[in-house]
Parts: sequence; structure tokens; C-alpha cells
Amino acid sequence: MPKEHLDTEMASQAHDVSYLTAIHWQDNQPRVRVQTDETPSTEIVETQDLHLRFRINDDIPRRCVGRIERSTEGSVYVDCESPPTTGRRCERCQIVDNIAAANMHQAHRKGRDAIDQRMAAYLEHPHRLYVAIFRDGSTKIGTTRGTSGGQRLVEQGAWFAKYVGHVEDGFLVRELEDLVSESLNLGQAVDTRKKISGHLRAKDDNELQKILEGVTLEVRKVLKAQNVEGYSLLNETWSNPAIDDPLWQDLVAYPATLTHGAHEFTIRSMVGRLAACTRTGMTEVFLLDLQPLLGRPLERGDFELDELALQVSLF
Ligand SMILES: [Zn+2]
Repeated sequence: MPKEHLDTEMASQAHDVSYLTAIHWQDNQPRVRVQTDETPSTEIVETQDLHLRFRINDDIPRRCVGRIERSTEGSVYVDCESPPTTGRRCERCQIVDNIAAANMHQAHRKGRDAIDQRMAAYLEHPHRLYVAIFRDGSTKIGTTRGTSGGQRLVEQGAWFAKYVGHVEDGFLVRELEDLVSESLNLGQAVDTRKKISGHLRAKDDNELQKILEGVTLEVRKVLKAQNVEGYSLLNETWSNPAIDDPLWQDLVAYPATLTHGAHEFTIRSMVGRLAACTRTGMTEVFLLDLQPLLGRPLERGDFELDELALQVSLF
């Protein structure tokens, strides 16, 4: 075989690579952004029954996962093809992301004139305040833009939640969020490790709802004691669409490291960025965190798969 031909073949093989760059939820349906060197370079693919077979090839550079830009119309995803610097983003996307995060969290402290105009326009829109609970029993206070839908809650993988306030804009809602956090020592984020352990050793749904009721009552007391204009109390219940899905009742932690080696699985259902997956020839439903895959080169091909060493629990 002439060398030139071999090189061309190797080059085309090396291009058979795709990158997952983001997980999106829309109308309660999870999708992933998949980037390739084909045209168009980005496709949005439903994760329901998505079969993945790939090898992590560390000889191929990773890709920046892009960024979200916010304006009065909401948020728009901006794809990027640069290599990441540190973490998952290139320098430019990281700067944009850091500024957005800082603006978002400090908007009410800095005042609306001190932040980026597009972000200010994004925040000048009704928001809701909610209390969410995860399956390990962790609770948090949070905010979401808009007056309907459970987008933020499905994205984060909350199990149950209560909307407690309708607030005129994103500035006041963050003031109230901070106030509740400080008064009740109630956090604004829940660690993914807790979310994972919650699915593997879940508290009973009734117990979770009771805990949530209790925390919500405390939050309402704090809110009622405030004499501020611009918000009204809400009492709306939300639950994750997966609560009745039997796939989420008997999960096994994925017994391999996703960021090395060769893997094969089919995504059956998702809660936030966590996926319930099956593997050909096995009966278990595995719990996987898709986040570590974002931006990594997933080389497609019929590779020999990593063995999954299932541990037999003694208890
Ligand atoms: Zn970038």
C-alpha cells in the first residue's frame, strides 16, 4: 500500500471524532450538542435512546465547550472550535462566562447601571424564587427567569420543588434569594456528588416532600417578614418528570472511568446531567455523569471495550 494512501486513511480516521459540548433541556426533553468536523459542525441530538460507542483519544486536542450569551430575548448558545486553555473553555469563552456569572450573582449589589447592558436587559424580566430538594435530601434556594416551565429545575436534576415567589425582575429576586440563604443558612447550589449518591441511595419520596414542606414554610416566613414591593408569594409544586420512571429506582454506579478507555452505552433517561444507561448484554441500569465527557475527543469505531468490573455488595 503506498504510504500516501495510508496517511490519507489515517487522517480520515482521526477525523471520525465527535465532541459533546453541552446538555440542553427543552420542554422537559434532554438533548446534547454534538460537534464534528462535518458540515454543519454542530448538531443537537435527543438523548432518548442515544447509543454511544467511543474511545477517548487523548492524542486529539479537546474542544472548547462554547458559551451562553444572554440578552433581552433570553439565552443563546455560542459554539466555539478553539482548543480549551484550562478547564473546558478557551480563554475568550471563559472570560465571557466569568463576567456573566459575576454579573448574574452581583447584579443586585452592584446596581443595574454597573453591569453589562445585555445582561441588565436579560434580568429586567419577571423571575421566580423556588426551593428545591434532591434525592439525598439536600435542599437549596434558587431563581429562574420567566413565569412558567421548570427549565432550571430539570437542568439541575431537582426531584421536587416549590415555587415560593413571583418577583418583578432578576435584581430583586437575587436580593430575596440572598436574604433567605443568610437567614436560614440555605445554600444556592447542591454538589453533583450529593445528587449522584441521592440516586444510588434515595430517600423515600414522601419523606423528601415532608422535608421540602418544612423548609418552604420557613422560607415563606422570611419572605412574609419583608416589607418590600415587587413580589408576590407563590405556592406551586413541581416534581421531576422521572419520579415515576422505574429506571431511576434501581441504579448502579457506572463501574469505570468515563474519561479514559473505550465505552459503549445507550442513554435511556436523564435527570439533569446524570444519565440512566444500559449496556449491550448487561441487565443493570448504570448511573453516569455526562459532564466529564464535555469537550473530550470521542473517537468512533469498533474498539475493544473496557471491562466493567461489577462489585458485589456485601450489605
Ligand atoms: Zn471558546
